[in-house]
Order: sequence, then structure tokens, then C-alpha cells
Amino acid sequence: MNEATEKNEFTPVNFAIVVPCYHEQEVLPQTHRRLTTLLASLEDDGTISKDSRIYFVDDGSKDETWPIISDLARQDSNVVGIQLSRNCGHQNALLAGLFVAEGNAVVSIDADLQDDIDVIPEMLNCYREGHDVVYGVRAQRDTDTAFKRGTAALYYKLLGALGVNAIPNHADYRLLSRRAIESLRSFKEVNLFLRGLVPMLGFSTTSVYYDRKERLAGETKYPFHRMLSLAIDGVTSFSAVPLRVIAALGMIIFVMTIGLTFWVLWTRFFTDQVVPGWASSVLPIYFLGGIQLLSLGVVGEYVAKIYLETKCRPRYLIREIVGASHPEMRAPKYERASTVPQA
Ligand code: UDP
Ligand code: MG
Repeated sequence: MNEATEKNEFTPVNFAIVVPCYHEQEVLPQTHRRLTTLLASLEDDGTISKDSRIYFVDDGSKDETWPIISDLARQDSNVVGIQLSRNCGHQNALLAGLFVAEGNAVVSIDADLQDDIDVIPEMLNCYREGHDVVYGVRAQRDTDTAFKRGTAALYYKLLGALGVNAIPNHADYRLLSRRAIESLRSFKEVNLFLRGLVPMLGFSTTSVYYDRKERLAGETKYPFHRMLSLAIDGVTSFSAVPLRVIAALGMIIFVMTIGLTFWVLWTRFFTDQVVPGWASSVLPIYFLGGIQLLSLGVVGEYVAKIYLETKCRPRYLIREIVGASHPEMRAPKYERASTVPQA
């Protein structure tokens, strides 16, 4: 049972929303308006407490994002602005927000509000019922391009096949209880893939469903290479299966080579034919060369991960926090940051 439910079914939940923002000047005012309206109505009906807050995390934007956030934080006592020292990537910005946020239930959501905020009351109901993790899952994603939909579906299939426990059609829109966030602190990895990490927390989990919308304004901050990099992180941070596939491939080729050796010797000694030359020697060279380089690349990807993990660099650095109610929070907190360009 959560703290709130233990005391009283109707104790207002101390609630927080975390919003990572990177070059989001076009959407921020609108996002702020919509989130404050939601908070106000939830405060009015007694679902959440009056000290519930929205945490906007500026992930090292070069545009007007931070000036807008810090203005909002100064004018609106429900808003806290957190500025990271540089662009640390969506996953790290999100983590910074989760770790700074106070509140017993914290929802993370993208700044473009593509994820339907109208299911937040439903998430809070699930929290009240005793769930520590509530996933927002897209029931349909018509607004995404066919390419993004197709690759995403394929990717979740691949993750499943590799034994990674990720929730299909769930991005980083979720509610975490205080207990879940505190547990998240004990995961020290630098290569962050929260979608894989959160299911590893365990606890009581559930999902709410919504339809994904169009971006309110501005452009996507996830170009193809960043999506690819996040996808690779997702696999290599949670599964050693690719390494086993390489070993299996080596085994298969080894067995095939034994067969081939018998065939060559047989032809040489028991027939008057000669083993055909060019094709049978040149093709395997190219084939094996390709497989070896590919395998080396995959192994390299894991070695690179170990390299980055052993350095224990901070995952993010906070430059400034504006509008924090608690004086202690104004002092920047430091956390380990990834050096890989995070998507
Ligand atoms: N984002 C971030 N840092 C980055 C890239 C993105 O904090 O380096 C934020 C961005 O502002 C948005 C969220 O991550 O709030 C998701 O980005 P976007 O909506 O562009 O991704 P898409 O929905 O297109 O996959
Ligand atoms: Mg988006």
C-alpha cells in the first residue's frame, strides 16, 4: 500500500510532473498552460495536494527554452525549473527531473504533450490503488510516420526475443511512486535506458491506455541516428544474447568447415575430379570477413559500454534550479552523466 492509501483513501497525493525540454521554446507556454490547468482541477477535486509541482528540465538548450522556463518558475509557484549544464540527452534529463522532484507520485511526460495528459487522473487512481509503476501505453499511434511505427513494432519484437522486458508501445510516459524512484537511485548505470530499467524495479505495476497525438509545435528532437543509438543502448544494456548469437554462428561455421574438409579430401583422393577453385575459396573469404567484422563491432559495442561504465562519470550536472520551495534543493545536485550521445 502507498503512503496515501495507508492514511486515508482521500488524502490528497503530493504529486509532481517532470518534463524534459530540449529546444522546446515553441511548445513550452502551451504545455505549461495545459499542465497547470490539469493540476488546478486535480487540486480542486482533492486528488492532489496544493504543493504539487511541475518540474521543467532544460537539457542544455541553446534557444529560449531556459529563459522561458525560469520566467515560468519565478511567476508560478507550482513550477520548478532545472537547468542542466549541457545537453545530456533525454534519458539523463528525465532522470535529473525524477531525482530532484519531490512528491510521492511523479509522472514523466515529453514537452510536446504527444502523450495524452487526460489519463493522468487514471494514473493517480492506479497509484491510490497501490501500484508503484503505472505505464502510459499508446493504444494507437496513427500520428507517427509509418516508418516510425514499423521500426518501433519490429524493435519491441526484437527486444522481446532477446529477453529484454520492455513494455510495447510505452515510451517514457509513466507514473512512479516515491518508493520506485528511490529504488531507481540504486541503479548506477551510465548507459541509461529507462524503458528497460523500470520493469526491472519490480513492484506492483499496471498500465493505462491512450491515443498518441501530434506534437503541439516544433520539430522532433529524435532524428534517426538518435533513435538508432537509443535502440542499440536498449539492446546492449540489457541483453547478452547478441554475444551468444556470435558464438553460435562461430560454432555453425566450424561444423560446416568440418563437412567441407571431408568433401575436399573425398574429392581429392576418391574421385578424379578437382575441387572447383575460385568461387569456393573467394566467397568464404568475403563471407567470413564480413561476419568477423560485424561480430567485432558487436563485441566492441559491449566493450565500449564497459569502458563508459567503469569511468563512473556523472550522468548529468545541474547548473541551476529555479523556484524550488525547499532551500536545500537550490544547491545543485550532481549525478553521473553519460558521455555517449544519448537519444
Ligand atoms: N529531449 C531532451 N533532450 C534531448 C532530446 C530530446 O530532453 O537531447 C526531450 C524533448 O524536449 C521532448 C522529449 O525529449 O520533451 C522527446 O522528444 P521528441 O518529442 O522530439 O521525440 P519524439 O516524440 O519525436 O520521439
Ligand atoms: Mg514527441
